[in-house]
Amino acid sequence: AKQEGGNQYQFFTMEINETISRKMTLETGLRKAAALGEIEIYYQPQVVIGTGDVKSFEALVRWNHRELGVVSPLDFIPLAEETKLIIPLGKWILHKACTQFKAWLDEGHDLCHISVNISAVQFDDPGFVDSVKQVLNETGLEPRYLDLELTESVVQNPQTAIPFMHELKAMGIKISLDDFGTGYSSLNYLKDFPLDTLKIDKSFIQTIHQSPKDMAVVDTIIHMALNLNLNVIAEGVETPSQLDYLVSRKCHQYQGYLCSAPVPHDQISTRFFQPVKG
Ligand code: C2E
Ligand code: CA
Ligand code: CA
Ligand code: CA
Repeated sequence: AKQEGGNQYQFFTMEINETISRKMTLETGLRKAAALGEIEIYYQPQVVIGTGDVKSFEALVRWNHRELGVVSPLDFIPLAEETKLIIPLGKWILHKACTQFKAWLDEGHDLCHISVNISAVQFDDPGFVDSVKQVLNETGLEPRYLDLELTESVVQNPQTAIPFMHELKAMGIKISLDDFGTGYSSLNYLKDFPLDTLKIDKSFIQTIHQSPKDMAVVDTIIHMALNLNLNVIAEGVETPSQLDYLVSRKCHQYQGYLCSAPVPHDQISTRFFQPVKG
């Protein structure tokens, strides 16, 4: 029994060491990843439900580590936040996404906006608004083509967040509230934040046909968004019956595997753009 306990202890410490060393590998790797070309941006279409039009995309970061393979943003974004690396990394992502979208516009496609996720740590940085201005200047993208996705966690600091949001809005940038329904005191944010769009979290969409409660939540969010004159997007739509429900509730747009997973930029061009006559 003593032996067993010993092994268990050893196994436990091994597991901790592995976690720590993986974290260290990730952290050192992350500092160099963008320069090494290991970081890429994928794009997921935002589909207009009434027409099927695809004129907007969400940028989602991907990290392909030389040894570890594909690392999920759910693993490295929190680490990047903890180490504040998200500030330069986030700016790099914004720059990359704006450059791509500008290139698509320059090809003559009729497009609406590019949505870029902004972490609360990035948003809390006093240099954030200036860094957005700088990226727009450098890339030449007009602000009306940029949509920033913020989660409710940005509001840990409403007294700084709200003036920031107004400043961005005054520049012509759009603001979406991401993962709506998963945070708390959401209703205050709706009232106080200068928002354009609400994004219904995929956790509600994915169980609408199993849970009458989730259906009621989705129904209520859509209804509220329509009454507040906000654009509303459902995330994580995978099946035709989920889409049918959203059509019946008059939801404006959706994202999800039903249309497309996030894909590299060249797949967006081939799948979603008509050739434009020169
Ligand atoms: P999010 O912003 O809520 O992004 C939506 C996530 O749902 C993405 O996961 C997307 O690939 C996934 N998804 C899209 N359609 C479907 C579907 O039909 N079914 C299912 N099951 N999933 C779907 P991903 O790309 O792994 O990103 C996870 C999270 O990481 C994002 O959640 C966001 O919070 C964060 N993230 C991703 N890229 C960035 C970034 O550039 N900056 C920051 N700050 N965070 C990012
Ligand atoms: Ca998002
Ligand atoms: Ca989301
Ligand atoms: Ca999410």
